Amino acid sequence: MINRREIIRTMSSLPLVGGLFAGLKLGGNNTFTPAPARRDYFKELGVRTFINAAGTYTAMSGCLMREEVVDAIMYASNQYVNIDDLQDKVGARLAELCRCEAATVSSGAASAITLGTAGVLTGTDQEKARRIPTDLSGMKSEVILQKSHRIGYAHAISNCGVKIIEVDTPSELENAINDQTAMMWYFNNGEGQIGREEFIRIGKKNNIPTMNDCAADVPPVENLWKYTEMGFDLVCFSGGKGLRGPQSAGLLLGRKDLIAAARINAAPRGDTVGRGMKVNKEETLGMLIAVENFVHRDHKADWRLWEDQINHIAKNASSVDGVDAEIHVPDIANHIPSLKLSWDETKVKTSTQQLREDLRLGHPSIQTVGSNEHVGITTWMMNPGEERIVASRIKELLIEASKT
Ligand SMILES: *Cc1c(COP(=O)(O)O)cnc(C)c1O
Repeated sequence: MINRREIIRTMSSLPLVGGLFAGLKLGGNNTFTPAPARRDYFKELGVRTFINAAGTYTAMSGCLMREEVVDAIMYASNQYVNIDDLQDKVGARLAELCRCEAATVSSGAASAITLGTAGVLTGTDQEKARRIPTDLSGMKSEVILQKSHRIGYAHAISNCGVKIIEVDTPSELENAINDQTAMMWYFNNGEGQIGREEFIRIGKKNNIPTMNDCAADVPPVENLWKYTEMGFDLVCFSGGKGLRGPQSAGLLLGRKDLIAAARINAAPRGDTVGRGMKVNKEETLGMLIAVENFVHRDHKADWRLWEDQINHIAKNASSVDGVDAEIHVPDIANHIPSLKLSWDETKVKTSTQQLREDLRLGHPSIQTVGSNEHVGITTWMMNPGEERIVASRIKELLIEASKT
C-alpha cells in the first residue's frame, strides 16, 4: 500500500499520460497499488477494455484473477516441472481443501465434464482411452440426464462419443438404466422432477457413477464440499468464475479411482480426448492458489463489499423518477447480490437495450446483462471503486433520457 504522495511520484515518473492508467492497478482492497509502467497491449491492438458489471461470462473473459493467483502464475512461468508430478501434488492439496477423496485441475468445468466422463468409460485402461470418441467397443455408451438439464454444456459429455438419454421422472430414470449406462449427469442449477439426493440414491442402487456440474456455484464456499459429501461421485467447478482463478482452468473433484481414470484421458498423454484441453503448470498452480485463497478468505467481508456496491448503484439509479431498482440474490449459481433495473418508459424515454448499448459504447465502456424488461448488474467481477463510475454513468443516462 502506498500513500498519495508516492502515487503522485509514480505518476510523475511515467513517460506518458496514456501509460499512467496502464501502470496503476486498482488493488483488491480498494487501494491503488503501483505496477511497473509497461506496454498497453490491448490499446495497441485496438481491443477495448471495459468495466464488467455483467458477471462471469466466458465471452467477456470471465473474471479477474486474485493477486495471489497472478503471483503463482508468474512464479510457475519461470521454471520447469513434470506435469504429472505437479498434478499429483496439486490434486492432493485440492482434495484436502475441498474435503474430497481426490481432485485434478482441468482446463475448465467443461473439460472436467469431458475428462470425468472419459474416465468413467475407460477406467485406467490406456488402450480404451486411445479409442474415445470413435470406437467405444468394450465400453459403456450411454449417459442419462434429465431433459430439463440438457444445457449446451452437455456437449462436453458427447465429446466422448456416448449417447445421451433424456428422462423426466424417477421411474423413467430407473427404466432407462441398462448394461450400457456409463454415468448419470446432473446440472446443479437445473430444475426437474429428480432432486439431487434421489438422483444419487438411484445411482448408488444401480452402481452407476453420478456427476454434478456446479460450474458457477460458488459462493457459498461450502459448495466446494457439499456435493461430494452428499454422494456425487464426481463434481465439476469452473476456475474462472467465483473462484477467481485462471479462466482456462477448472476442477474435477471426487472418487479417487475416477479421478485417476480421468487423468488417463488427459494431457500430457497425447492420444486422448483430453489432449486439446491441456493445462500447463501456470494454470495448475494458479488454480490451487485460487482455491486456497477462496477457502480461507473473509467471505462476510466480500459479501458486505458486494452489498455496499450494489446498494450504491441502486440508490443512484432509483433517485431518478420512475426508475425501479430491485436487489435480489439468486439461490444457486451466481449466488451474489444482483440488481435489476427497470423503469416507466413514459418518464424515462429509453429502452433497457438502448441503455445497455449506451453504457457499452460510453467512456469507459460498461458491460451489463439484461432483457427487454430489465438491465442486470452485478459488482463482484468489478475492481472495487468501479461501482461509483457505473452508478454515475447509469444515473446520468437515465436523467438524460428523462428530459424531453
Ligand atoms: C460456465 C459453465 C460451464 C463451463 O465452464 P468453463 O469453466 O468455462 O469450462 C459448464 N457448466 C455450467 C453450468 C456453467 O455455468
